[in-house]
Amino acid sequence: MTNHQLTIGWLYPNLMSTYGDRGNVICLRQRAQWRGYEVQVMPLDQQASVADIHKVDVLVGGGAQDRQQEIVMRDLRGAKAEALREKIEAGMPGVFTCGSPQLLGHYYEPALGQRIEGLGLLDMVSKHPGFDARRCIGNVVFEVSASRLAGDLEKMLNSPPVVIGFENHGGRTYLGNVEPLGRVLKGYGNNGEDGTEGAFYRNAIATYSHGPLLPKNPFLADWLIQTALTEKYKMPISLKPLDDALATQAREAMFKRLNVSFPVAAQR
Ligand code: GLN
Repeated sequence: MTNHQLTIGWLYPNLMSTYGDRGNVICLRQRAQWRGYEVQVMPLDQQASVADIHKVDVLVGGGAQDRQQEIVMRDLRGAKAEALREKIEAGMPGVFTCGSPQLLGHYYEPALGQRIEGLGLLDMVSKHPGFDARRCIGNVVFEVSASRLAGDLEKMLNSPPVVIGFENHGGRTYLGNVEPLGRVLKGYGNNGEDGTEGAFYRNAIATYSHGPLLPKNPFLADWLIQTALTEKYKMPISLKPLDDALATQAREAMFKRLNVSFPVAAQR
C-alpha cells in the first residue's frame, strides 16, 4: 500500500448513469486499488458542496436523457459551475460521456423544449435534429487523434491507441476551436458527418462512447489515474502494469466482430 490517495468525483450518479456508465467509476477505483492506492468515490449530486468539488482528483460524468440533463444544468450554476470550470482549467483529468460533454459545451438543443445552456468550457455545440432523425446507435471504434493524449497512449501501448465503445445519442455535436478526441473508424461519432469523435481539452476526455468506455479500453483508465496522481502529488507517477489479458481478448473479439484490424504493436 502506498500512502497516495485518489478521490474520484462522480457527477450526479442518480441522474447521469445511463448505459452502464457507472462501469467507468468501478474500473478507475479497481485499477487504482490494485496498485495499492487508497480510493474514495465521492458522489457529486444536488447535495454536494463547492468544497466537495475541490477535493476531487479525477472526475467521471455519464450520459443522461434530455430531461435529466435539464435538472443537472439547473443545479450546476453559479459557484458549483465556477468550481468545476476552475478544476478542469487547472488540469484535473476527467471522462465525460454523451450527455455530460453536451453540458460542457456552449449549449444542447433537445428535440423538444428549450435550449439548455452549458458551461461553455469546450468550444462546441450539440443539437438534436428532432425525433424524425435517426439516433446514432451502435458500436463505435475510433483512433485517438488528440496529439498529447495520443502521444502518451502510444508510449503506454507501443501501438496506435484505438478505442472501442458503444454510442446511443440523438444529439449531434459540432466542434469549434477544440481538438477532437479521435477519428471515427466505425460508427457515427460526434455527428455522423465530419468523422470526428469527442473532444479533448486540458486533461478532460469528452466522448460519445458508453460501453462503458474504461473497462473496454483500460489504457484510458490508467492514463486518467496516472495524470490525476501526477497532478495531485506534483511528481511523476508511473503505474505498475496489470495483467490485462482478458480485456485484450475481449478487445480482439470486438475488433474481429466489427471487422476492424487489431492495432499492431510497433517493432522497436
Ligand atoms: N440526451 C442526449 C442525446 O440524446 C444524450 C444521450 C445520452 O447521454 N446517451 O443526445
